[in-house]
Amino acid sequence: MLLENDRPVDESAPIPVAAEATFADLGLAPSLLHALTKSGYTKPTPIQAQAIPTLLTGRDLLGIAQTGTGKTAAFALPILHRLAEKRVRPARNSARCLVLSPTRELAGQIAESFKTYGAGMGFLVTTVFGGVGYAGQIRALSGGVDVLVATPGRLIDHIKAGHLKLGFTEFFVLDEVDQMLDLGFLQPIRSIAKDLPGNRQNLFFSATMPTEIGKLAGELLRDPVRVSVTPVATTASKVTQRAIVTETGNKKRLLLELFTNPAIARAIVFTRTKRGADKVAEMLENAGVRTEAIHGNKSQGQRERALKCFRDGQARALVATDIAARGIDVDGVSHVINFEMPDEAERYVHRIGRTARAGADGIAIALVAPDELGMLRQIEKLTRQTIGLEDRRDFDSVPLEQLVPVPGDGRPKRGNNGPRGNSRPDSRVSVKPFGGRPAKKSFRK
Ligand code: AMP
Repeated sequence: MLLENDRPVDESAPIPVAAEATFADLGLAPSLLHALTKSGYTKPTPIQAQAIPTLLTGRDLLGIAQTGTGKTAAFALPILHRLAEKRVRPARNSARCLVLSPTRELAGQIAESFKTYGAGMGFLVTTVFGGVGYAGQIRALSGGVDVLVATPGRLIDHIKAGHLKLGFTEFFVLDEVDQMLDLGFLQPIRSIAKDLPGNRQNLFFSATMPTEIGKLAGELLRDPVRVSVTPVATTASKVTQRAIVTETGNKKRLLLELFTNPAIARAIVFTRTKRGADKVAEMLENAGVRTEAIHGNKSQGQRERALKCFRDGQARALVATDIAARGIDVDGVSHVINFEMPDEAERYVHRIGRTARAGADGIAIALVAPDELGMLRQIEKLTRQTIGLEDRRDFDSVPLEQLVPVPGDGRPKRGNNGPRGNSRPDSRVSVKPFGGRPAKKSFRK
């Protein structure tokens, strides 16, 4: 589905692709077209239509795109095509294509995309990231791989230990560069890049392009084609946004009230801290809302199990912190609920981008304490949008006991990933669905 805001940034270098191009028009190999049909993709997203023909010619690319735009396929498809065009066995301890990702979740998802699109092509795709043992990664690297998706820290460990040599790298992809810089990966990226051969193809993606990122792009890319599918810091066009002002102490009850609405089918709830994420998850779970939590203190295994449970529809809610949620790619997220506002306005854009993916609709609801109203204003300024505001500071009319199941009804145990036989459906919660009160605009100055 074409997004409304799509436009190339560099008007001087238009890309010769018809707006309604098909994947076959883009020049991709038949085996890739077959995999796309199997994935149910009928036509390219705008970034795919713009980037793929250029990348097939071997040019560098500077892509300004958020997750949810189809950017992973925009780089994975042409790379797979070109790897297949010049099929050589990867040298030992090397990777023909190196993709850097800020988080292990995103690394895992990118690798899965390469495997899905490249099914049947016989390429070796592997991941390297922290939080798991070294031995399996060392084994995987030793024979050489076609595609390596890595987080920078662990990658450097392997390079230093001699498990990976970058001299044979043909494709270098940096994904979500803004997030990598937020995480302090600027120097690691520079140190990795200096070991790469000069005649590689570079692909560089970032949701935003502040000066520091533009400078890094200038260092790494050669005469890149620039494509942009959403203007910088613009929220996904299909997300309906609401904000509810309430006292901090009322947020939990308001959240439970929101979950009485069955339209909230699959929701990601954002908190600012790991501890906050655990507390909110526990409260929801105790109230009968099947919930998983994902944050930096969880082991890789726990994160993967939580994501799987959420993706499979066993959990209705996923409570997450910003870093952990980065790269979560789950289709059909109906709602993003900001239980706490983020520290930076741009994070809000990333958060709500978890819904309305690949052209679907989505709803974002922010619970805003009076002292978070300043952040709400900053977000409105950044996104150049006004967010409908409701005043629920007087949220005391519904006693807490009406919002949670009565004690002794077989409350779920945390950590049980399976569907629970003894839990009551959310309809037991006895308040009316949220949403009756008129919006008040009195907070705006
Ligand atoms: P991304 O921006 O790469 O994180 O992709 C967002 C979502 O869009 C993923 O779930 C992809 O599977 C999906 N997707 C990517 N390209 C297409 C397409 N051409 N048609 C439909 N869905 C797509």
